[in-house]
Amino acid sequence: MTSAGRFAPSPSGELHVGNLRTAILAWLFARSSGRKFLLRVEDLDRARAGAEAEQLRDLAAIGVTGDGDVVRQTARGPLYAEAIARLEAAGLTYECFCTRREIQEAASAPHAPQGAYPGTCRNLGRAELEFKRSIRPSALRLRAGVAEFTVHDVLHGQFTGVVDDFVLRRNDGVTAYNLAVVVDDAEQGIDQVVRGDDLLPSTPRQAYLASLLNIPVPEYAHVPLVVNRDGARLAKRDGAVTLADLARTGTPLAEVRDRLLASLGLPPGTLDHALTAFDPTSLPAKPWVWAGAAQPKL
Ligand code: GLU
Repeated sequence: MTSAGRFAPSPSGELHVGNLRTAILAWLFARSSGRKFLLRVEDLDRARAGAEAEQLRDLAAIGVTGDGDVVRQTARGPLYAEAIARLEAAGLTYECFCTRREIQEAASAPHAPQGAYPGTCRNLGRAELEFKRSIRPSALRLRAGVAEFTVHDVLHGQFTGVVDDFVLRRNDGVTAYNLAVVVDDAEQGIDQVVRGDDLLPSTPRQAYLASLLNIPVPEYAHVPLVVNRDGARLAKRDGAVTLADLARTGTPLAEVRDRLLASLGLPPGTLDHALTAFDPTSLPAKPWVWAGAAQPKL
């Protein structure tokens, strides 16, 4: 299978300049290493009608286009079911009936590992299991054999993070993100994952799951986020942050693209032109501050 990179947005709304900057980076990383580049719509939850089309339109407008068809997670249920069945057959799953509140209460007990599922349903007896089944639908969790796992990231080096008994399938039957992303990346031949560094903490869980499924772990590059002037992660409430907002307030598309490229130390123009100057080893390591309308003109 050919190697590939990807951008995998959740169609919950329009992309903002932070998402677009990450998409540009994913494209540059893939193209500069001779990989294909794929777009995947992560619509298992948080999907808003119309958002997918807006996102693909904006990506194309700044020059981020994929090879081949766009893949949608909602069309891939059988692949996820097959992976879950393999884990079940290996005794690596269990049913969990905990509510969010129960987990929060148990996880705040002294000595509970930070941010980890406390294992409440890990060893339920048969009678207890039957009783709980009669009350609520269950989620399916991984029976993790480690408490942490180390990944290598091109920008962060070795990163060790928590691996807990994370959810594989939610109690409403929807496949969990951590399972879907691992299955999809492997099935699509994706061996390079470039995404925002807010996702670095879940990466050890995903790499561990890949190892259980006998799937090669991709190369990771978790890139710095775009922040607002207060240093908080950029969000829609920070004013004109989408291409449509910016066009309305007088900033043309090419200028937005060139500002994003400049923030990466790259020359203005098309992404193909920027590619000739792209060096993944000399990327800015700090978050980039989007100063909105006050941004100095280039
Ligand atoms: N769909 C996720 C998001 O939009 C990204 C997942 C990934 O890149 O692995 O936050």
